[in-house]
Amino acid sequence: MDLYEYQAKDLFAAHGVPVGSGQRVVTDAVAALDAAAEFGVPVVVKAQVKTGGRGKAGGVKVAADPADAEAKAEAILGLDIKGHTVRRVLVTPASKIAEEYYFSFLLDRANRTFLAMASAEGGMEIEQLAAERPEALAKVPVDANEGVDLAKAKEILAAGHFPESIVDRAAEVVVTLWETFVAEDATLVEVNPLVRDPEGAILALDGKVTLDENAAFRHPGHAALVDTEAEDPLEAAAKAKDLNYVKLDGQVGIIGNGAGLVMSTLDVVAYAGAAFQVRPANFLDIGGGASAEVMAAGLEIILSDPDVKSVFVNVFGGITACDAVANGIIQAFELLESVNKPVVVRLDGNNAAEGRRILDAAALPGLQRLDTMDDAARTAAELAAKGT
Ligand code: GDP
Ligand code: MN
Repeated sequence: MDLYEYQAKDLFAAHGVPVGSGQRVVTDAVAALDAAAEFGVPVVVKAQVKTGGRGKAGGVKVAADPADAEAKAEAILGLDIKGHTVRRVLVTPASKIAEEYYFSFLLDRANRTFLAMASAEGGMEIEQLAAERPEALAKVPVDANEGVDLAKAKEILAAGHFPESIVDRAAEVVVTLWETFVAEDATLVEVNPLVRDPEGAILALDGKVTLDENAAFRHPGHAALVDTEAEDPLEAAAKAKDLNYVKLDGQVGIIGNGAGLVMSTLDVVAYAGAAFQVRPANFLDIGGGASAEVMAAGLEIILSDPDVKSVFVNVFGGITACDAVANGIIQAFELLESVNKPVVVRLDGNNAAEGRRILDAAALPGLQRLDTMDDAARTAAELAAKGT
């Protein structure tokens, strides 16, 4: 999950990263005027969108007085920045900048380690610096077991050619950024620009944080950071029911047990669907249990997607055997008042024969059972094409 700048800075502040004195997020220009009047001017008015390059796009402006803050907020609210409409702006006291630097920690999946990136030449888009002058951007691996202490922080900063006179102060900030990265289970903490002000203080003037959603169970507070307005309503409903669901743009709804099986089901349906111009409509893994409640919850989410024209339930019985899954499907049909789209089921694995017998005997309306994954995928695709 990516955070907004103001959320990133809240986390920074909680871990002792210096972020300046106060910030307020507002959704209308008059509130920006009020905030500027309270903070004292000048202030910076900054578009809150989850993309970089806001400055270049006219989304970051310094305001000289409260009326100016209102005018700047008016100009920024509603802007389209790389496809993101600005609905909120951050008002914060403007800092004086002597120098701008770049600093980040991230999870380096390719090298199976953490990575620190640092450059004394911050401010501009880092991709451009990395492409044009890679030697100016230091990349220093960080061992997960060793972490980042003051000595390591100084090593990273020296590699990024930070001026010697500020390395000691900046190193303290780098350690707090590392603490933020670890304590919050982030996969990215980026500060661009990290600045030195004329008095020599180091400040994080921007913040980009990505949190690892697999660690959400350790962070009850992170749920409040989810931008529910921007969330897909079906994904939000699935999350509320603890289902592993991702909306895609096709017409064949998919339910399976186990992430690997669901992934291959997507492939098989995409392949079979090509002839009918239909594609998978979602990823949904109901996990190992496949109880009636979970099956019903999954079917309900998928059937409520107006794009879905047919559903393919692909289950490989394991610890939960096929007879239990078959009964789960039957009960799910009872729990749901109407299943108004064709459902194709393929059952295989542990106790498949009994599962198939139970499902066939139930003769559920609109449900077809097929023995193989390929046949079931083709049938589901064909039915979806008929329904469109
Ligand atoms: P980005 O363009 O989306 O990365 O947004 P930033 O938050 O990095 O802001 C872009 C630029 O605005 C920065 O590189 C700074 O030069 C400038 N800026 C941001 N905050 C301040 C501030 O408090 N004071 C001054 N003088 N400039 C600022
Ligand atoms: Mn920035």
